[in-house]
Amino acid sequence: MDDKKVLVKKIGIKVLIVVLILAIVLITYSIIYKTNSINDIFKNVKDKEVSLTEYVVYGTHLNLKGTLEIENENIAKTELCLMTINGKNLKNIELSYEKTENGIEFTTSNLINEGIDLEELTTNTYYLFVKVEYQNRKTEYYSIKNETEYDNIEYYTITKNNRNNKVEVLFEDYDMDGKDLEYMYISVNYEKLPDNVYDVVIDPGHGGGDPGAEFNGYREADLALKYSLLIKEELEDLGLKVLITRDGTEDESFNTRSVYDKDGRINVIGNSKAKYVFAIHLNSINEPDKYNGVEIYAPTRSNLDFAKLFANNIVKYANTKYSNLEVNYRLEKGVYVRTFREHEIAESIETAKNIGFKPYDIKEYTPYLYIIRETGGIATGAYIDGRNKNYGINLYYDSNIGIESYLLEIGYINSQEDLPNILSNEEGYVKGIVKTIKDKLLGEDYVAPERKDKDNEIKQKDK
Ligand SMILES: [Zn+2]
Repeated sequence: MDDKKVLVKKIGIKVLIVVLILAIVLITYSIIYKTNSINDIFKNVKDKEVSLTEYVVYGTHLNLKGTLEIENENIAKTELCLMTINGKNLKNIELSYEKTENGIEFTTSNLINEGIDLEELTTNTYYLFVKVEYQNRKTEYYSIKNETEYDNIEYYTITKNNRNNKVEVLFEDYDMDGKDLEYMYISVNYEKLPDNVYDVVIDPGHGGGDPGAEFNGYREADLALKYSLLIKEELEDLGLKVLITRDGTEDESFNTRSVYDKDGRINVIGNSKAKYVFAIHLNSINEPDKYNGVEIYAPTRSNLDFAKLFANNIVKYANTKYSNLEVNYRLEKGVYVRTFREHEIAESIETAKNIGFKPYDIKEYTPYLYIIRETGGIATGAYIDGRNKNYGINLYYDSNIGIESYLLEIGYINSQEDLPNILSNEEGYVKGIVKTIKDKLLGEDYVAPERKDKDNEIKQKDK
């Protein structure tokens, strides 16, 4: 060995020792730092919790409601803070609140599809605190105690660039000088989508022996299926994982089975753990040509942006019209929010009495369309709970994780304006629908990654 080699070797060992020491210091530091930091966060937290009274995921949003017993004079602002372990405020959501006798009642939103956007959270751990700011600039923080009947939530984000995050909403105890305080946190980690979890469900209306609306030999069930299969294919090309509730291979039993049976439409959708369900239908009116155009049916008490986008894009790309059906539940051009009418609530109660079962819990804002109501769980007031044996049971009626649903009546089957367009211009309708879903779920600038199975197809053709 010459001197140079010895020198290099000596330096090498020294570098290795330095690296090892650095690694040990870093690991020790991160352990101490982590345990210290949760204490750091709690340094500013009051020894009293917020009571979480409602805790619901609908579509892609987590919405919270709660109460807090505080001095409610001179409040300037209340916020929900999402903090990282080192006490950094990553996100603040302004809460709307009302004063109560001994404090406040707050919510992240009065609309069911708003609140914390779970798709937006990057991989991290977020600690949730309610911050109350007073007019004298005094600020107080409160941890959140779960007073609902629901436990932890597990949610998978929509597939984007072949990637998914698992979002867990969790509760834990913190020992504050001998007093247990409960706190709420959200853990977001990259994780592969489980086989049984989907991004969206497409539900072609009717099917089996149920043709839906019929006109001049055309059946709603057939046309809805044709459209649904095209939409499914295009969404899959974008990289989304799509479940369809029927694909034309269904047998006669599909018709006799209740949508609330174990393998019925509603429970199949519930099992998919999807974020959205889109039901595809064609409209009909007993007086042909009275109505025409697009009607999008949306959930009650919801932000209608998605529904509006559907209506606008279908009108634009399919070169059709907003429906001319003018009713008090038309809330925007082409957007309808149908709830139970007073006499329908009365009828439902009457029917229940006659059959001898407890009436369903229908409110004035309960969605009338079962697909919207029953897939949303408690967010939309799903109520088919098996009390009437003729109906079966919606296994997810009391779930605090609901699927956001829209029913798309793309046009009237017995309209001379709509039917020829629906038969000849499927490209336009499908484009309007798929573009809406893409823009809302993946973003306007999203470019789909190449599909592996498509690559293989091409390669095989080349051979
Ligand atoms: Zn229909």
